[in-house]
Amino acid sequence: MSTAPFRFDNSYARDLEGFYVPWKGAEVPAPEMIRFNRALAAELGLDATALDSPAGAAILAGHTAPEGATPLAMAYAGHQFGGFSPQLGDGRALLLGEVIDPQGRRRDLHLKGSGRTPFSRGGDGKAVIGPVLREYLIGEAMHALGVPTTRALAAVATGERILRQDGPAPGAVLARVASSHLRVGTFQFFAARGETARLRQLADYAIARHYPELSGQPDRALGLLSAVLERQARLIAQWMHLGFVHGVMNTDNMTISGETIDYGPCAFIDGYSPDAVFSSIDHQGRYAFGNQPQIAQWNLARFAETLLDLINPDDSEDAVARASTVVNGFPAAYESAWLEGLRLKLGLVSAEPEDLDLGVALLVAMAQSQADFTRVFRSLSAAVAGDEEPVRSLFADPAAIDDWLDRYRARLARDSAAPEQRRAAMDRVNPVYIPRNHLVEAALQSAAAGDLGPFEKLLGVLADPFTERAGLEAFARGAPPEFGPYTTFC
Ligand code: AMP
Ligand code: MG
Ligand code: MG
Repeated sequence: MSTAPFRFDNSYARDLEGFYVPWKGAEVPAPEMIRFNRALAAELGLDATALDSPAGAAILAGHTAPEGATPLAMAYAGHQFGGFSPQLGDGRALLLGEVIDPQGRRRDLHLKGSGRTPFSRGGDGKAVIGPVLREYLIGEAMHALGVPTTRALAAVATGERILRQDGPAPGAVLARVASSHLRVGTFQFFAARGETARLRQLADYAIARHYPELSGQPDRALGLLSAVLERQARLIAQWMHLGFVHGVMNTDNMTISGETIDYGPCAFIDGYSPDAVFSSIDHQGRYAFGNQPQIAQWNLARFAETLLDLINPDDSEDAVARASTVVNGFPAAYESAWLEGLRLKLGLVSAEPEDLDLGVALLVAMAQSQADFTRVFRSLSAAVAGDEEPVRSLFADPAAIDDWLDRYRARLARDSAAPEQRRAAMDRVNPVYIPRNHLVEAALQSAAAGDLGPFEKLLGVLADPFTERAGLEAFARGAPPEFGPYTTFC
């Protein structure tokens, strides 16, 4: 590469000394591009041709540092499954630097799997191809589904074999792009150490980067809490409307930006069930599908605790009272975001107080039949056009949905949308294609065995989830019974 591939502007390194450890990626035997995201590179204003190369692979594996990079491991803490760890941090990741895209948006370029750091504790600092490609695939799918998310710029093979629970696997690094890597856990790291001056610095940095309208405001710490809460309420409502189970909503995996981060043991539900858990380590179901809103609020309460000294340094009771008022507003913020999303999914342009009840009644009917969540919503646009058989056929006992369809028809009669527009609008929010667990698993297994074909195919289907295409019927269905219960690993 003759010219520098990135024009970095590294605000985290520059403005937040003491919040990280400058570090270097590990050298690896044979960096080789597995998958480069040209569309994202273009969006970032990067030279895709230059980066999708052996030299680019070496950079994105962490093997060589590009000009202008200030690689660093970020410090953070976090509540993991409810228990507090005062020191987590980037144990196998590095922030390479920040780039400004052609629209002026600042994005982190981050490597995951780039070797041990001072935060590695007992870990090997590495990542393997299956989880790296899972994060690539699910992140891209979420993006195409309209969900704020970190995204993959590249997956790079390292040429190593790394030992994991089911034997050795090919080593890989994920090059990840995010609007930032600030987490609730970043604040917790400094709060736990009583470093109020650093917390103020961090809050001001987060505000400048994500909520600039709050800059310089006297009540900006409380404003930051409200703003993060609002974005998280909207994010979780989107997850719930897509059947997405994050799987490990620890506070270190909750961003300040409102983007989804850290696709580890995540999965999408097929049959609707609020109790759905996929993660091998979530024995209590703490992060079950239906628990996600409450967990988000719990995490936001932990975030609020870190801000108390900034909210009112002179009167802790007042600080607690004001922070609590904000955090207690989560259920209402969530419900309003969820209702807004529900009306879009049901094709309603008007709002009635009973819409919440109508939505819940549909979920109850689905839960009783374990009806396929994605297909039920998608088939409602046919129901709107008078063909109710597609949706009825998704219920073990089709009569189980008839009462609900009566209510829905009556509700549509009071809503003024033109039928064709209503159907088109519904099909823009109710996907045909989501990352089906059995297909994701098959694609990752093939990739680990050296065949990227199924991964590429699935990635292509998921890039356009709302347009039904002939020949892709197998991508629109849930797992066959023989697939059995699905278990995911961190
Ligand atoms: P996660 O469960 O991915 O959110 O990671 C939680 C913490 O464990 C973070 O501090 C990670 O950096 C660290 N971690 C996860 N896997 C490894 C690994 N293989 N080596 C070192 N640290 C790791
Ligand atoms: Mg994490
Ligand atoms: Mg993880």
